[in-house]
Amino acid sequence: MSAIDLAHHIHPFCDMKDMARHGTQIMARGEGIWIFDSQGNPYMDAFAGLWCVNIGYGRKEIGEAVMRQMNELPYYNTFFGTSTQPATLLAQKVTSYTQGLMSHVFFTSSGSEATDTWFRLARIYWKVLGQPSKKQVIARRNAYHGSTVAGASLGGMKHMHEQGDLPIEGIHHIGQPYWYADGGDLTPAEFGLKMARELEAKIDELGEENVAAFVGEPIQGAGGVIIPPDTYWPEIERICRARNILLIADEVVCGFGRLGSWFGHQHFGFKPDMASIAKGLSSGYLPIGGVLISEKVAAVLAEAGDINHGYTYSGHPVCATAALENLRIVEEEGLVERVRDDIGPYLAQSLKTLEDHEVVGQVESVGLLGAVQLAKDKSTRQRFKDPDRAGRVVRGFCYDHQLIMRATADRMLISPALIISREEVDGLVQYIRHGLDHLREQHL
Ligand code: PLP
Repeated sequence: MSAIDLAHHIHPFCDMKDMARHGTQIMARGEGIWIFDSQGNPYMDAFAGLWCVNIGYGRKEIGEAVMRQMNELPYYNTFFGTSTQPATLLAQKVTSYTQGLMSHVFFTSSGSEATDTWFRLARIYWKVLGQPSKKQVIARRNAYHGSTVAGASLGGMKHMHEQGDLPIEGIHHIGQPYWYADGGDLTPAEFGLKMARELEAKIDELGEENVAAFVGEPIQGAGGVIIPPDTYWPEIERICRARNILLIADEVVCGFGRLGSWFGHQHFGFKPDMASIAKGLSSGYLPIGGVLISEKVAAVLAEAGDINHGYTYSGHPVCATAALENLRIVEEEGLVERVRDDIGPYLAQSLKTLEDHEVVGQVESVGLLGAVQLAKDKSTRQRFKDPDRAGRVVRGFCYDHQLIMRATADRMLISPALIISREEVDGLVQYIRHGLDHLREQHL
């Protein structure tokens, strides 16, 4: 299988030469938070696939619901005024979690398509309102909003921009609220305000009459689980309102319970005009995403005439069925409340014990999204000379010991399924500690 894969399959985000040296690892089966490779080796997946398998692997109910829908109606589109029962019921269901904020949803197959969707809708919105010059969009450095051309442009990843002459025109980036790295002598609260005010300065530079929107992940995921200080989002929201630009939340990672709330913006207490969703919407069982749209924006879009945007698989009935069944499980098992009141605080308290380790500068988490910041000298917040290497050492050690974690530079990222047990959290933290011991022994 590995040889066939190497011969024919180009992988996302992968150095193919490097992969050829190690061979492809074929994953074969999953159960709860555990994934098994084709040799039968178990791995604790502390990353829920790619931040998505929120209900855990191996839920037969989803397969059964999907099979029934497959046999009834495997496909019909939602173009030109048709829908299917699963797509319509899912639209009602996802908007019901928004506390009355979002009345509508536009379906896509992925988070990247969701990004492209709100990007176009934001420009249509201002055009309908007679302000077509409001086109520029402001995002953040080190953000991740997907891999399509607009998604990779809005994302603030240098290594992505370098491939393909990105960003495209009309996209600008400001700094990220990463206190540990950039906060200097400021308190986190002061630093949160400072970083939010970069948005105001950027709007001044571009001219308010030219800016359509600002986008941010409530907590930056792939950028390193950057948890903003409490002062950050209220100030961003104030600026967006004062300067009359749309506020977009990218909820692809934070949505559907990961932070112990249905959406990340609810946790931080701000009200976006649109929000992209994917991943936890179906727990990754089938590909589906979307853009949640507030009544304010939906009312304007209703005046746009034809909206010339859509995907063959927008609202795909089988994917929508998987999402409905996933959300039924999330509700029935009270997973959002479990993360907020029980397993989230338990993870936080367990992870905090790692702060006594010599190579740990800080540990942070909200719900089941966490990061362990590595440090060369914790007393001065000094980082390793080669932060990427430090992260790779810990990640590699953990992987060799059958724990799947991710690293963004020198931050170890944790994002397990929402059904992880307390015993599994104990095991996870113990494994991470071994990885940290190993890093200390490397004398980097
Ligand atoms: N937005 C965020 C915050 C993400 O983390 C991701 C993927 O990781 C995306 C958008 C893109 O989603 P997809 O990979 O489904 O296109």
